[in-house]
Amino acid sequence: MPTDPGRAMLPKRLARAIWLAPLAVPGMVEPSPASAQVQIFACEPEWAAVAMEVGGEAVSVYAATHGRQDPHYIRLRPSLIDEMRRADVLFCSGAGLEGAWLPVLLQRGARVSLQHGQPGHLLASEHVRLLNPPGRVDRSLGHVHAEGNPHVQLLPENIDLMATELARRLAEIDPENTETYRRQLSAFQERWRGATAGWMERSSRLAGMSVVAYHEAWAYLYEWTGIKQAATIERLPGVPPTVSHLQEVLELALGAGARAILRAPYEPTKGMEWLSDRAGIPIVELPFTVGGAEGIDDLFDLFEVTITRLEEVHDQY
Ligand SMILES: [Zn+2]
Repeated sequence: MPTDPGRAMLPKRLARAIWLAPLAVPGMVEPSPASAQVQIFACEPEWAAVAMEVGGEAVSVYAATHGRQDPHYIRLRPSLIDEMRRADVLFCSGAGLEGAWLPVLLQRGARVSLQHGQPGHLLASEHVRLLNPPGRVDRSLGHVHAEGNPHVQLLPENIDLMATELARRLAEIDPENTETYRRQLSAFQERWRGATAGWMERSSRLAGMSVVAYHEAWAYLYEWTGIKQAATIERLPGVPPTVSHLQEVLELALGAGARAILRAPYEPTKGMEWLSDRAGIPIVELPFTVGGAEGIDDLFDLFEVTITRLEEVHDQY
């Protein structure tokens, strides 16, 4: 790692693109030389976090977006193309989430081994069960989730599934470290499954609680907590609200007894504030991904803080 020129630039680059240094793995005698590290290009911070858990010192992880950034739309900086060029593994949500930027990036910079169908091309949407599968949706209306809901990271089981799949891919790409990946996966899963059991137990009293969201960002969180969504402020995913739609959302929120408006860190507050004033309910920002709030440094923090904030909503409003 110290000889890797990209790594040497770490502090300078931190401000613009999040750089996630590999975690130290206790018990590893000798870290692999930098040139042998598998380079992982993660589209979102949650997948970068999974990659660090499973890959440890054997991988080098780059996250294309940070936790307070809208992953649907990002600017194609030259540094992103450079990172894509040196990547051995692409790890993204898929289902069209990165549709506005990833295809261009793949075309401009990626190796053949990163193209669809190769072991280096890993999309969560191809391994987890997608909610809101395609139905009668009209893309011409600007619907950005026409392939199903891509925000899969807030279901604990999906993190577990993707960690397993990544370990399998890494073993295929970097067979020398198969045992390392297997060991790191199993250590992660043990901790993850233990933590998940605790979150599940705590979530039981949230079942049935009603909320409003800006975007269909929380479908997978509702899936295991039993939280109900009264309405979304967007008319359709990716389509901003009109005045008449907001009026409708207000009625739905009041009718359902919604307790809060959930906000991802990057979402606009205008429609939320309008609704918050009229419905008399707070805007509650949840981290949404790793780095989505101060102190959310890994996947455990992400779920722990999310469930704690929802408990506060339940108890206070
Ligand atoms: Zn979305």
